[in-house]
Amino acid sequence: MPVVALSRLHAEKYIEPMQGAANEGLANRRRARLPGCCEVCGTWSSDGLCAACSARFAPHVHRCRRCALRLVDGLQVCTDCAREPPPFAHCVCVADYGYPWQGLIARFKYGQAPELAALLAAAMLASADRDRAPRPQAFAALPLSPRRLAERGYDQAWELARRLGRQTGRAAHARMLERGFDAPPQARSARAQRMRNLKGAFTVPAHARRQVEGRHLALVDDVMTTGASAGEAARALLEAGAARVDLWIVARTPAPREDR
Ligand SMILES: [Zn+2]
Ligand SMILES: [Zn+2]
Repeated sequence: MPVVALSRLHAEKYIEPMQGAANEGLANRRRARLPGCCEVCGTWSSDGLCAACSARFAPHVHRCRRCALRLVDGLQVCTDCAREPPPFAHCVCVADYGYPWQGLIARFKYGQAPELAALLAAAMLASADRDRAPRPQAFAALPLSPRRLAERGYDQAWELARRLGRQTGRAAHARMLERGFDAPPQARSARAQRMRNLKGAFTVPAHARRQVEGRHLALVDDVMTTGASAGEAARALLEAGAARVDLWIVARTPAPREDR
């Protein structure tokens, strides 16, 4: 592959450290920041992600309808979701968490490139349409804990949710849910322990109840790893009277079994 065709992200990772190639990486970075360029390959595109990169990096993949894990054709839900259905009815997901989404999400999430929210939200919407996911009546951001929000100063789920609202003409809510505390790190804890850690982490404040009752809602987040936080948040919305809760994410970590 010629160097100029490499993505900007590849360029940063592999080319810039190489002697004499730094200028090429810089050129790619400058080009990708120009409006009208594909964020992945740097070629001209009015959408932020060109058609070729969309087809290549956000292809249709048969997934579990409820948790978005990859599935063999013919099955609607994975064995875990069949045995113990999550509270969200449908999961919209652009792609597995990996190249190039991992890099795009990292730049977006840590505030280096907040404008990527538009590209990511558009990709979510395209995936929802492709999979014929029903449109919710409103989008709700999966909230960060107050401590995380203070550390980061940037709420990535809200940035996605408000753009989804704008692009669909639906309402979007930043504070439909409140998150009271930080659960301990979850990656290695057993599933039952994770659920106990998160019990009561999300509440629907009194001022939001009217916007929840009887509504079909979509919770929005950037990445789903275990689904435990999203599950607890969806449960809180259902307990507050939501008619249905879906989950809309950019990327799904193809987790090993014990990390689901
Ligand atoms: Zn491209
Ligand atoms: Zn599943």
